[in-house]
Amino acid sequence: MKLIDGKAISQQIKDEVKEKVAALKSEGKERTLAVILVGNDPASTVYVGNKKKACEYTGIRSESYELDESTSQEELLALIDKLNNREDINGILVQLPLPAQIEEKAVINAISPEKDVDGFHPVSVGRLSIGEKGFLPCTPAGVIELLKRSGIEIAGKRCVVVGRSNIVGKPMALLMLRENATVTICHSRTENLKEVCKQADILIAAVGKPKMIDRSYVREGAVVIDVGIHRLEGKKLCGDVDFEDVKDVVSAITPVPGGVGPMTIAMLMKNCAEGVH
Ligand code: NDP
Repeated sequence: MKLIDGKAISQQIKDEVKEKVAALKSEGKERTLAVILVGNDPASTVYVGNKKKACEYTGIRSESYELDESTSQEELLALIDKLNNREDINGILVQLPLPAQIEEKAVINAISPEKDVDGFHPVSVGRLSIGEKGFLPCTPAGVIELLKRSGIEIAGKRCVVVGRSNIVGKPMALLMLRENATVTICHSRTENLKEVCKQADILIAAVGKPKMIDRSYVREGAVVIDVGIHRLEGKKLCGDVDFEDVKDVVSAITPVPGGVGPMTIAMLMKNCAEGVH
């Protein structure tokens, strides 16, 4: 069994970004990411802190906006508008979730697709689905990098994605399709889920249920990618996959932590450095 090392691969990507950013700097071009946090949700504060740290590491300038919990939608949209119009800002990231008075969709739609480093804008989603250049959502794009850099063949393989969220499952399936896999998307209404999963050469779990995918879902020799992150009692992390149960059946697997998790920020940095690609 091969352990797919997301920690090492994400580090490799951040180092490549660092080189790219330094090369741009030597041409007098700087990369700047605007990071907006509304309120003080503890998890969001940690995520934003990690993103800023990654910016520091890679040499991307980060401009931080920490807004009060009571910020109105108009105020936030006005800030986004200002950042959209600033030529020195390459990427705009609004940390989700947002307080109840702000509509997430309105905020996502307000970010210019040319600065949509999270890849959530409908234009970015549309570009992905018709195969045009655009920003790719970081977590699923990170999974593709993990597979490719681990030497796992995607073209022609049967891939089953469990989950169809706009952030993970759906773009994941589109990216696997773009890589020429034969893709099946499963969700809470799928019948015979185990049988469908058992057909997968590459099984991607983005289901949001701790340890749900055990060996009864996995074909012998399959590659298993675990997107899930859950904090168990006692603070230990686990994924959507029951790692201990499947590890002797699979040919390769991502651990949690240290698998897909670190890839998200690395891909965000790549998006900031490379722009629409
Ligand atoms: P969502 O809750 O938005 O989506 C879960 C999906 O799983 C839905 O499509 C749902 O189906 C499906 N589902 C739920 N229960 C079942 C079931 N019993 N059988 C089959 N399908 C089911 O989650 P996200 O996509 O946002 O996230 C998925 C996981 O990935 C979470 O654990 C999350 O923490 C993690 N995550 C990790 C990231 C990272 O950086 N590594 C980034 C983002 C998320 P339906 O649509 O029918 O309701």
